[in-house]
Amino acid sequence: MVDAKLTDVRKTFNDGQVVAIDDIDLHIEDGELLVLVGPSGCGKSTTMRCIAGLETPNGGTIEFGGHEVTNLPPKDREVSMVFQNYALYPSMTVYENMAFGLKMRGADRETIDEQVRWAAETMEIGDLLDRYPTQLSGGQQQRVALGRAIVRDPAIFLLDEPLSNLDAKLRAVMRTEIQELQQELDVAAVFVTHDQEEAMSMGDRIAVMNAGRIEQVAPPEEIYHDPNSLFVADFIGSPAINFFECSLTGTTIDHDVFSFDLPDSIAEPLAAGLDGDQVVIGIRPEDLGITDPGQGLFDTRVEVIEPMGDRKIVYMDVGDRRMEAVVPSNAAVEEGDDIGVSVNWPNSHFFSPSGPKVLK
Ligand code: ADP
Repeated sequence: MVDAKLTDVRKTFNDGQVVAIDDIDLHIEDGELLVLVGPSGCGKSTTMRCIAGLETPNGGTIEFGGHEVTNLPPKDREVSMVFQNYALYPSMTVYENMAFGLKMRGADRETIDEQVRWAAETMEIGDLLDRYPTQLSGGQQQRVALGRAIVRDPAIFLLDEPLSNLDAKLRAVMRTEIQELQQELDVAAVFVTHDQEEAMSMGDRIAVMNAGRIEQVAPPEEIYHDPNSLFVADFIGSPAINFFECSLTGTTIDHDVFSFDLPDSIAEPLAAGLDGDQVVIGIRPEDLGITDPGQGLFDTRVEVIEPMGDRKIVYMDVGDRRMEAVVPSNAAVEEGDDIGVSVNWPNSHFFSPSGPKVLK
């Protein structure tokens, strides 16, 4: 049972021209499933490869259970990694694929057999052991890849976009299975994805990465309800958060199409936290409400309505921006309606235009 701790870890490529990870700190606690999420190219895989020992950082330290492993080769770390493309050996049977790692470590035949059969049973692939990878479906191959990873009884379990090649339905099933597996193994696990919905549904905690840096690490609800930067607010949540670019003068917030006064208790700390007078207010689509014209903060017209089962998305233009509100599917609003828009202010977020959240 160990945790993993990255301190000031830096990895560059091409003689320092590409900064893949930029002095990151990350603590993966023993027994937790931490999801690393961010757009393509933000440094997720490089972070995983550094933890696995497949890349050597240019700076910083990596510790497992308090022992430094920064420069240890992969075979000397108790880490198992599952990749997007499964990376099964085509010329070996499922049994041989699963046994390979233990064999390389010099385990005896009996131990290997015991471990492989335990992992096969755990992943429910006991009847596939004599097959070759080409004789398996995508879902079965992924189970074998997971089985092969757990055979070694890893202290730290790394999963790099392991579900990307599966169809939507199978992905949903495998997400739950991976969560259950991780809880059963009771190990520290890092799961990488670029899909924020996958991250939100799986992680005990989520680390949001952007351009080689970790923007925020927190449980999913906190990431959603209390994003600490414009980037996190924008990246997490579907439909996306609405941003209103405003200015603050005294206690007055001005936007192209509305203005209102803030209480002193908000205006003062807000003014103190901003670099200038510009502020970006973020409001999630479910925190915008539809009312009669003249009754809300501003009036506009409904451009498009998109049904989503029990809810519907109402698209409207506010200034030169398209905004989205999410309302119950039975809300009395139609395309082309003139409406007023109200705001659930306690759930709004104030950001500096340069990124950070200004008011907690
Ligand atoms: P992600 O997994 O989030 O898509 P990566 O960790 O793969 O991101 O890549 C982060 C950055 O580092 C990207 O700009 C990528 O092009 C660069 N990079 C990754 N590996 C290498 C490499 N071996 N050589 C050069 N650049 C690399």
